[in-house]
Amino acid sequence: MEVNSHGKRLIIDMGLPLDAERNDKKYLPNISGLDGNDDSLLAVLISHPHLDHFGLLGHISGNIQVIMGADARRILTQVSPFLPDCWPIPANGMNLQSGRSFDLGPFKITPYLIDHSAYDAYAILIEADGKRLFYSGDFRMHGRKGKLTEKLMANPPENIDVLLMEGSTLGRLENDESFPCEAEIEEQFVAAFSKTTGLSLVHTSAQNIDRIVSIFRACKKTGKTLVIDLYTSVVLKATGNKHIPQSDWPNIALFIPHKQRIQIKNNNWIDLLKSHSKNRIFIENLQAISDQSVLLFRPIHIRDLEKADLLNDAVYIYSQWEGYWEQDSNAYLREWLAKHKIPKQSIHTSGHASPSDLKRFANALAPSRIVPIHTFMPEKYSELFNNVELNADGEYWEV
Ligand SMILES: [Zn+2]
Repeated sequence: MEVNSHGKRLIIDMGLPLDAERNDKKYLPNISGLDGNDDSLLAVLISHPHLDHFGLLGHISGNIQVIMGADARRILTQVSPFLPDCWPIPANGMNLQSGRSFDLGPFKITPYLIDHSAYDAYAILIEADGKRLFYSGDFRMHGRKGKLTEKLMANPPENIDVLLMEGSTLGRLENDESFPCEAEIEEQFVAAFSKTTGLSLVHTSAQNIDRIVSIFRACKKTGKTLVIDLYTSVVLKATGNKHIPQSDWPNIALFIPHKQRIQIKNNNWIDLLKSHSKNRIFIENLQAISDQSVLLFRPIHIRDLEKADLLNDAVYIYSQWEGYWEQDSNAYLREWLAKHKIPKQSIHTSGHASPSDLKRFANALAPSRIVPIHTFMPEKYSELFNNVELNADGEYWEV
């Protein structure tokens, strides 16, 4: 979104579409000043570190300040070297702090930390010219930080003129359906780990910190060791949160798959590896404890698992959005599981609010108008909410 007051502008989120084939400049919106040569563009604000909200940052000038949460910035910066191609590292800029307002040109900006599957995610209030625009960001109430969203709803900013509200789940879920909460997901992992006699492979995003916590808690409850790689260790440390599981905790082990060993060698990450090596194990250790271990699986593990014959009685638990599973990029994984006769189970809950939770949120914020955003079903909004105003991409309108 581009917001304009007295000729000064802000951009809020710059995402790469999730179905984009690659991170291509062609997805960049036609907005003036992205080359850094227009002072009227004051900043880019990023609500949270999901690719569909920050992915295009690599295509804009590094002279444009990027405002986002400090933890989110640290995560994106530290994981960047692990990822292929040129992954965007956010340019310097102010850090969002929940509840702390700040002024930027004609705008007053207030971020609110909110529950979502990305770490350090915010809803954002923008005030200018006596108008109040509230952007929900991506949010939910059924994660481990549901209280954050509940707190915002219990004490909402008043007199909101326009609520820009996400609706990712509209069309995916019936209006009266809801999602399991993250605590229920933890129990599903407990049940799955208890009955597995081989290695449990859990395929999730290391950046879904709520999910890592659920998996770790389920490991503790079932006496299993959670085995992570260096990338995951770096993500967990980058949260800066001492309550989040870390590579040096009991019940956690570090295993470096072959492909990552090469990456470490080529990039001379020896010191980084050492800093996470307190609980390091090698393939023979993993063989010895495979029935008591849960591996946070990524496709880079495939070669090691095959070579070490670790797939007997293994189970594969898919813990991401089912929509990704069907994508062509996962075809080899589907074939690999079939080839080794590894059963697949799904344990997952959405990072987004259900339709009924969206309704609760809209009622609590009580805006004069709701404008749909981040949805495939804008036309469904008027079934659920009052005063809906549809605005198309690329159109300017008045708050
Ligand atoms: Zn998101």
